[in-house]
Amino acid sequence: MVIDHQKQWQFLKKSFKLGRIPHGLLFQGQEKLGKKTFALEFIKLVNCQNNEISARPCQKCISCQEIEKRIHPDFILVEPLKKGIQISQIRDLGLRLASKPYLASFKSVIIDQAHLMSPEAQSCFLKTLEEPKGKTLLILITEYPERLLPTILSRVQKIKFYPVKKADIKNYLISQGLSENKAEELSLLSFGKPGRALDFLQKPAKLDNQKQKISDLIEICNSPLVFRFQYLKDLLLESKNLKEILEIWLRYFRNALITTINNQQSTINQSRYSLSKLKNILEHIQNTIFYISTTNVNPRLALEVLVLEL
Ligand SMILES: [Zn+2]
Repeated sequence: MVIDHQKQWQFLKKSFKLGRIPHGLLFQGQEKLGKKTFALEFIKLVNCQNNEISARPCQKCISCQEIEKRIHPDFILVEPLKKGIQISQIRDLGLRLASKPYLASFKSVIIDQAHLMSPEAQSCFLKTLEEPKGKTLLILITEYPERLLPTILSRVQKIKFYPVKKADIKNYLISQGLSENKAEELSLLSFGKPGRALDFLQKPAKLDNQKQKISDLIEICNSPLVFRFQYLKDLLLESKNLKEILEIWLRYFRNALITTINNQQSTINQSRYSLSKLKNILEHIQNTIFYISTTNVNPRLALEVLVLEL
């Protein structure tokens, strides 16, 4: 099931109809947008046994079902092991691609979190990309395309993915049997990421954690500095993933910005900030995420500077 991403879907469907599917595709965009689900649906479409292209993927034929279960003999999913994607995995892939397809007209490959390929694995993969054997469809999925070799990037067609509209996530959740209220809550808190809404459904603890982080944030915004610094101190002790928390803050303030622009009331966004103040805060959070992820800046110091602005 593909939630939104209609432009990307139409583009690839058209390429398929014209017989011009690129040999290598790169699906790039933030995590939890549904890139892997989208890739699986496209691979189903390419291999579906229904003769009517507009009815593909039918989800019923043996090909669609085996791809869904990830047991189709001509479909290979490469995922990171403990230490990323190793050269041995890419060598195995090369061997599997060397034989003819069993059932399908295409051999299809998804390399999930492709940026976790080691440098050796990337060089080895480049050979597969350069020397297509028969009809193969290679789909790389990544949040960080800049971590791939430029020689790989120049040989793939890039397809970008963006956050999905809240209404689309909500409608999907309702179609899956959720109540209106629950669907509204999950779509609001998933901030454009269908995968996150599904995570919340499967693991309610994650939803509670996100709600807690948002209510903490609202509380510190309304507290004197001394409490803000104390909260940061506790946060740094308990949390392994500061980036994730800052991203929740970022999403919260982005939502507040949109709400302010639309001048609408929202249950989790009773913003007391002006438009320019919100823009300023967003910029600060983005910079802090950037510094914490890419430099040796002291995280506590960076966060203290940030909460001064809230
Ligand atoms: Zn089918």
